Amino acid sequence: MLQLTWDDVGGLSAVKQRLQEAVLWPQQHADALSRLGATAPKGVLLYGPPGCSKTLLARAVAATAGLNFLSVKGGELYSKYVGESERAVAALFARARGATPAIVFFDEIDGLVAARGDAGSSGVGERVLAQLLTELDGLQPRLGVVVLAATNRPDKVDPALLRPGRFDRLLLVPPPDAAARQEILRVHTRNTPLAADVDLADLAARTQGFTGADISALCREAAMSALEEDLGTAAVAARHFNLALLRVQPSSSPSSDTMAMYDQFQRHTGLAVA
Ligand code: ATP
Repeated sequence: MLQLTWDDVGGLSAVKQRLQEAVLWPQQHADALSRLGATAPKGVLLYGPPGCSKTLLARAVAATAGLNFLSVKGGELYSKYVGESERAVAALFARARGATPAIVFFDEIDGLVAARGDAGSSGVGERVLAQLLTELDGLQPRLGVVVLAATNRPDKVDPALLRPGRFDRLLLVPPPDAAARQEILRVHTRNTPLAADVDLADLAARTQGFTGADISALCREAAMSALEEDLGTAAVAARHFNLALLRVQPSSSPSSDTMAMYDQFQRHTGLAVA
């Protein structure tokens, strides 16, 4: 796989900056932090709608910082055998400690540690949560292990994980606005010759409601349309994007209730963390 850089992530400059601080400063500016008595966040939770760059951001910050990247999807660690899931969590952190500096990334963390009462009666969720809290509480900043997680449902994550000293930086990764969509279009057409009639600003305006993942699909579809028309074609033109816009539908936008929940979360955690 090609090495990712920040240039592969369109838009989101404020999120990139805060993520970079959380991950890079403890590695690169440990002295400056301790001079001011500041501690870097132990864990960062990225939250927002599906397809809007959370995984991409995690991979990009690991790559730019030169950190090993150990990634696991919430549900993957679940096992019906007693004790297996907790052992899997412990083994993951042991691997990270053996590969420092490293990022441990929990994708869809709500699938691993749903808030108590949501996880059914098996008790696996509670034991996994307890193990994860033990691992987080045992992490020392200088050990070189940073924990990132992503979720679409921060309201489903057990609040114990969000206390200071655990996932204590929460970053909303919002759906892209027009300016961000233009940058994402630029990222996904970087290696594509475009005809002079392709106007990325105009396409950004016409892709309201598209996520980053949708825009990536749109650009792929435009290139395919150009090749369907003429396998020898040298460039993708505006008409190919018009065809692609008929074929690629935006993902369903988060409901206003979901956006309100994200908003409330941001305000609530903003106050809690300040
Ligand atoms: P989910 O919640 O479904 O896991 P996610 O928020 O983690 O989604 P990603 O996996 O980061 O979303 O994005 C999916 C794909 O969409 C990326 O691999 C990339 O091709 C494209 N994409 C998303 N956001 C951006 C962006 N800001 N810039 C460029 N490409 C993007």
